[in-house]
Amino acid sequence: MSKHLTPAERSQLEARLRERLQSLRARMSTQLDGLSRAEHAREVLLQDGDDGPQRDADREVDFAMTDREGAEFAATEQALARLAAGTYGECADCGADVPYARLALEPQALRCVACESVRERTAPRTASL
Ligand SMILES: [Zn+2]
Repeated sequence: MSKHLTPAERSQLEARLRERLQSLRARMSTQLDGLSRAEHAREVLLQDGDDGPQRDADREVDFAMTDREGAEFAATEQALARLAAGTYGECADCGADVPYARLALEPQALRCVACESVRERTAPRTASL
């Protein structure tokens, strides 16, 4: 088990992961109920502060989830599984401790910054293994 997170940090991150998973799930079921495209687009704008691949995401708004949300959902589930297994906070690729500062920004992060940037170069669109 990774020891660099205090129990308080760990439980705080876990709470945020659960919250995020719930809101992603809520969005999936809302979309099944037929949320209008305009409403969904507004939600994306409100919830997603990033200005990066937003144009790509907008084009995919008609489909159930954007790639980005799908990847985030999978990563959030994985992070919770790793919390349960006691491996949360260790880089999934190299095993290094992922600093709390990074996890606080992105609780679902599964890799250290170095490994993540390698992945983003080699597989820019999907987070699947
Ligand atoms: Zn790493």
